[in-house]
Amino acid sequence: MSGIQARLNAISAIINYQPSHAPLNFSETKPTDVFGSNVFNDKIMKERLPKHVYKSLKNTIAFGEKLDASVADVVANAMKDWAIEKGATHFTHVFYPLTGLTAEKHDAFLVPDGDGGAMAEFSGKLLIQGEPDASSFPSGGLRATFEARGYTAWDVTSPAYILENPNGTFLCIPTAFVSWTGEALDKKTPLLRSQQALNKQAKRVLSLFGVNTKLPVGSYAGPEQEYFLVDRNFVFSRPDLLIAGRTLFGAPSAKGQEFEDQYFGVINRRVLSFMMEVERELFKLGVPVKTRHNEVAPAQFEIAPIYEQGNLATDHNQLVMTTLRSVAKRYGMICLLHEKPFAGINGSGKHLNYSLGNAELGSLFDPGETPHSNAQFLVFCAAALRALHKHGALLRATVASASNDHRLGANEAPPAIMSAYLGEQLADVFEQIKKGEVKGSKTKGIMNIGVDTLPPLPMDPGDRNRTSPFAFTGNRFEFRAVGSSHSIAGAQVALNTMMAESLDYVATELEKLGKVNKTQFNEGVQMLLQKIMKEHDAVIFNGDGYSDAWHKEAAKRGLPNLKTTPEALPVLTSKDVVELFTKYNVLSEAELKSRQEIYLEQYVKTVATEANLVIRMARTVIFPAAMRYQGQLAETCASMQAIGHDFKMVTLEEVTTNLRAMQVEVDKLEKLLAHEGGDTLTHAKYMCDKVLPAMLAVRGYADALESVVADDLWPLPSYQEMLFIR
Ligand code: ADP
Ligand code: MG
Repeated sequence: MSGIQARLNAISAIINYQPSHAPLNFSETKPTDVFGSNVFNDKIMKERLPKHVYKSLKNTIAFGEKLDASVADVVANAMKDWAIEKGATHFTHVFYPLTGLTAEKHDAFLVPDGDGGAMAEFSGKLLIQGEPDASSFPSGGLRATFEARGYTAWDVTSPAYILENPNGTFLCIPTAFVSWTGEALDKKTPLLRSQQALNKQAKRVLSLFGVNTKLPVGSYAGPEQEYFLVDRNFVFSRPDLLIAGRTLFGAPSAKGQEFEDQYFGVINRRVLSFMMEVERELFKLGVPVKTRHNEVAPAQFEIAPIYEQGNLATDHNQLVMTTLRSVAKRYGMICLLHEKPFAGINGSGKHLNYSLGNAELGSLFDPGETPHSNAQFLVFCAAALRALHKHGALLRATVASASNDHRLGANEAPPAIMSAYLGEQLADVFEQIKKGEVKGSKTKGIMNIGVDTLPPLPMDPGDRNRTSPFAFTGNRFEFRAVGSSHSIAGAQVALNTMMAESLDYVATELEKLGKVNKTQFNEGVQMLLQKIMKEHDAVIFNGDGYSDAWHKEAAKRGLPNLKTTPEALPVLTSKDVVELFTKYNVLSEAELKSRQEIYLEQYVKTVATEANLVIRMARTVIFPAAMRYQGQLAETCASMQAIGHDFKMVTLEEVTTNLRAMQVEVDKLEKLLAHEGGDTLTHAKYMCDKVLPAMLAVRGYADALESVVADDLWPLPSYQEMLFIR
């Protein structure tokens, strides 16, 4: 539907909007009863599984021991009974292909019993392994179509859960997705592998500090999810929002975000209802969502969970994204997870709060209170800085996508230069360490590693330095370059593996000390920290990451600045990165190549789709509207002249010039788009350097037209309407 009538209908639908169901009654069902009620969690397993089976499964989940396949039948049976009691008719292996989305294929529990009836069946085999016909998922050359079968493998560490629909429920089993030859075709497999690598190296370092832990050490992740909400009726008459998830046209609204009156503002009633339902749905699934608030841009919001073990947090963030999308529709809205739905106002990101640890140890990025724990903290922190310095380009590559390119480096998100913000005190401590005269920190007299405690490090109360991509915030690092639509797996895979390599280095260096007493060990630690700082402190930057001065300074320091996706993705197959990932068995060279190919292809397809939309919308929506107005103006002109006025109309000139120019640019864009060739990387560069600017050229004239054409002729909902009518 398009045309001005669609706009009017949309507005009238919004005015007459009525909630479709009664408000949630939390006093009837307590949130504590709701939480985890649809999860096959520890409590349910304990209740329903024989003791030895429960214990065996628990060993795999908690301690990372190998799964005993013989228990699978019993678990499958218990899971099926539980699911059927909750109304499930089907089960699905949920997996996370390289599109970044969530995938599922449902199978019924029911099978014919041979006597004309049916019975519910679910075996250990079906639980452990699934075989979706996966030929349409991207494999980047890893899998030819004739051997299309990939298989899904049960991830015991992420609990199964029930999803509800008004017409029934179904059982979801989180899985990894691999080819028959065992190559990773998804986001989860390398994440699990990277956790193993991290665990091994972190434990080596910990044991040097005399710390032993039964539990695996892994990453913790707390992703803050930003999103936009737009009334659904507007989206139906905006093909760009509907198909591309972002506006490809649109003159700026008279009011944007300059008043910053949206940030932390009182939450609009319909939006709050939506948020409450989202939270309730997520509570059922055991997702510990905690914070909700208005974000900076009009119509922008955020939801943040309490951090969890990295793999679980990743699955949960996928659930957050799908839940936001589906619940929004029930409230007559569309949830946009695109990184830049609207030009001229902030886009959406996903701050990934990242730390290492486990339930026994807490966060290893937490300084602690004793000199001993401080020393250990400084070692882990220095390892992170070294990792970022050595592999910043890799980390940058994990957040490369056509959509995130519109946000990174646009003075609303950190630049593509990977640097770390430590805050004044901690930066000072490391500076002292580097100088080798750890005599006085800013707040203390003399500091000796392993003897003195750190000065109190302030917990970051808010976003004190938003301009840094990797900011230390008290007990974790906050990686701020992830896009709002991205899976948080990729960044974590890189961070875990980079950390594993750095911790490996640290452990190897400290092991060289041999048998030493405590003082000698502390001296050894001090020397190592000094060495790391001398080699890697170029990555520390506490200033304004948005400034031009920093871009120049960073270049001097030799920090890579990979501004666009086609510049960043080749890093995935660079020598360093291949060595890193193969050494720790996280991704093979073939797997890295396939990923690079898939991501480049996605980039090309995304830009091509958008370019096609630009052409189509310019010709079939904007051109006719502007021409109608031009006709009206010309008629007025002619009538005026007919009654003897020497009449020249500026607006008519303006419309005519912009229309003509827009047509020229549309033709240019079309020609550019028809030409392609070369390999995927060349094609991606071409789309970036030629096609994207050509799209912007069309938009420039179209937006100029929007600002002059009579409003009652303009068919596309305006920025003003989409951002401010709720
Ligand atoms: P802020 O606005 O200060 O960044 P938020 O409450 O919006 O704070 O988000 C902080 C996020 O960081 C939450 O998801 C929280 O669970 C997470 N977080 C806190 N501590 C850690 C940690 N040690 N490791 C990983 N994530 C953490
Ligand atoms: Mg934050």
